[in-house]
This record gives sequence, C-alpha cells and structure tokens, in this order.
Amino acid sequence: MKQPDFSPETLMLGYGYKPELSEGAVKCPIFQTSTFVFKSAEDGKAFFEMAYGKPGHDGEEMGLIYSRINNPDMEILEERLKLWDGGEKAAAFSSGMSAIASTLLTFLSPGDVVLYSNPLYGGTHKFIHHILTHFGVEVIGFQAGQSRKEVEKMLVESGHARRLKMIFIETPANPTNDLIDIDMCSTIARRFSLADKKVLLAVDNTYMGPLWQHPLKHGADLVLYSATKYIGGHSDVIAGAAVGSAELIGKIKKTRTFFGTMIDPHTSWLLMRSLETLKIRMEAAAINAEQVAGYLALHPKVEKVYYLGYTAENNPEQLAVFNKQCLGRGAMLSFDIRGGEKEAFTFLNNLKHIKLAVSLGGTESLAEHPASMTHSDVPFEEREELHITDKMIRLSMGIENGRDLVSDIEQALEKVKIPEPVLAL
Ligand SMILES: *Cc1c(COP(=O)(O)O)cnc(C)c1O
Repeated sequence: MKQPDFSPETLMLGYGYKPELSEGAVKCPIFQTSTFVFKSAEDGKAFFEMAYGKPGHDGEEMGLIYSRINNPDMEILEERLKLWDGGEKAAAFSSGMSAIASTLLTFLSPGDVVLYSNPLYGGTHKFIHHILTHFGVEVIGFQAGQSRKEVEKMLVESGHARRLKMIFIETPANPTNDLIDIDMCSTIARRFSLADKKVLLAVDNTYMGPLWQHPLKHGADLVLYSATKYIGGHSDVIAGAAVGSAELIGKIKKTRTFFGTMIDPHTSWLLMRSLETLKIRMEAAAINAEQVAGYLALHPKVEKVYYLGYTAENNPEQLAVFNKQCLGRGAMLSFDIRGGEKEAFTFLNNLKHIKLAVSLGGTESLAEHPASMTHSDVPFEEREELHITDKMIRLSMGIENGRDLVSDIEQALEKVKIPEPVLAL
C-alpha cells in the first residue's frame, strides 16, 4: 500500500479499507468468520504456499485463508496501527501480554540474556522472571537514572555482555513517571551487537500511547502496546499490538499463527472505532491530568506529585530525556498523600466519581494504590527504592470535565485526617 500523505488522525477514518469489497459499506463490516472460501483449488494452494513462505510468489497478493492466520478486520486494524509510530508493519494481538510474550519468544533462545528496565508492568515482570527463565533465558535489570557507562559496566562485569539478545524497556516507569533514555538503550543495543547477533531494543509504549512517544524514531526496533489502554480507550476490550519493520513483524506474526495469540474480528472492529477518536481522547485526558496535577501540587495533604510536567522539571537529566523523546506530559500521575496506607485508603474509599480500579487510558478516570495492588508483588526493599510506598496513589485521568475531577478529589481529601507529627523534644 502506498505511503499515505495525510496525518494519522485523518487516516484512522478509512485507511486500508476498500468499500467496493464490502457492498459499498462506508464502515468496514465485522468479518465474523473462522474460514474463507477459495475461488479455486489453485488459489488455495498458492495462498498456503505464501503463508508458509515458499518461493515463487513475489509480488502476488496473499489471499484470505483462516482467521488465525488472517482476517480483514485484523489486517485493516494493523494497517492503521502502524501509522502512529511510523512503522512498516504492525501485528495485533488478543492482549498486551500476548503481544509481549509472543514477541519475546520469537527472538529469544536458551542461553540468551534480556536486559530490562525496572520497574516493569507486573505481568511482564512475572513473564520474564518465571517463564523466560524456565526456557533458559537469563534476565538482568537496570533502573532509570543509571548512565550508559553504569549499565554497560554491569553487563560486562556480570558476564552477560556477549549473550545479550534483547533490551526491553518501559518509559515512563509506572507509577513514578521516571524516564529511561530510548536513544541511550539503542546505543547499548548497537554496541553489544555482533556480526551474527543483532541486539534488539523493544519498548513497551503503553503509558504514552501512540500519541506522545515514538520509540522507533529513537532507535527502537519494536514498539509494544497493551491496546487495552489508550488504543482501546473505553475500558471494554483486552488487546495488544507490536509495531516495527516488515522483517521483524513478519517473524512475530509466524509465532502468533502457531500460538494462536491473534486478535479476534469483533475486537479488531472495536479498536478501529476507538482509533478514530484516539487523538482527541488522549488530548482531553492530558488537559485533565495537567489540571489535577496543578491542584494536587498545592494541596497541604499532598506530599509529592509524580507527573511528567514536574518530574522532568525537577531534574536536569530527566528534563533532557523528556525534551528529546516525549511529545506530551501524558495523562497518568501519582501522588504521595501525607500519612500512609490508612490515609491513602480513606482517600480511595471516598471518591464519588473516580472509580477504584487498576488499568489506565480509558475515557473514565481511575484511581488505585500501587503498593497493595498493581505493584504488591514487587519485594518491599525494591518498592522502597523505587519510591512505591504505602502513601502513593496512582491516577489515570479520563475525559470528564476537569473541574468535576478536581472537586471529587477535593472532597475525598477532605475526609482524610492527617496524623499529627510526633514532635522531637
Ligand atoms: C496493561 C499493561 C500491559 C498488559 O496488557 P494486557 O492488555 O492487560 O494484557 C503491559 N504493559 C503495560 C505497561 C500495561 O499497562
């Protein structure tokens, strides 16, 4: 397909869909079918040869076979997903975790090493520590704020350097909004690549969605998404995606076909609908996040606000990374309430509109307690080191009226009684 000239938000309305193939329907119908009729036995033979990569079909268009391999809704969704990040191809999955798992298992073999940024999404942390290690892959972590020299020294001194195969990062970190320098990771990946072993850089870009950060432009090889979050955006589907070069995505799709981790036609259709409003939803949520962050920053019962607008400004190194790779301040923020778990829970239990739930990136605002919920599995010392304490509350801002969100937060904070400080005599 010819490279489009229009902006992604314009292309979300029709790109990749040919009405003449669907009775002229303006919108792509849901192709709720498991299998497709071949026009002739010869066609069926040719499609299977192409699906299995047999030679002799250069320039021919692949036909539809079976919905685990291909389906019009999945294919059109993928054509649109790749546009935001400027990738050559995209692959859509049944969940963010199946996108991550299928991608990692495509490129890793026993004996390989994965370098990852800490903290990672809980499911990814579990996957790499319990499943990858079970298959003989070694994992080693680093943190935001570590310099390239420090990370490289750690790789060399731990004896992992030669076997490094993949760097997997999440930036900004959840829930602290600490930034990891994507260009720096790309440099490390190149420095540890050998003639017969390219080190791949994969970035889980879920937190910034497809709008506010484009890792491929900073040297990443693969971008991964939980499409459950901003892409789906209505807290009503579970889905995932990978974006990158035609070569890498082609390999990932082969794994997907045999794992059966593809997205289904109905969810593909829902995501196409969601993508039409992606930009306006994310922009509205970002405006609310800025308003709420500003309110919290001045509140006497709030000790610290973790918002990209502030974390970046408080630290010159983080600010440099922010200016280089972030196109917005996001719609996720956390704050430390004065007190501990009791005060945090009082706040959460008294919210009237904002829902007490994990997940993020939906039209409605959500609040949760990382230390006892999303990050409860992270060992205590590690949590303390990462500033994920009992007094922290995480907010995902939605697209409501910003004043309503502030007044909900205001009345919940009013219910919180701050413990008297113990005076040292
Ligand atoms: C939610 C999430 C995932 C997992 O995605 P699912 O769609 O729930 O499988 C992975 N990474 C990040 C950063 C997430 O927020």
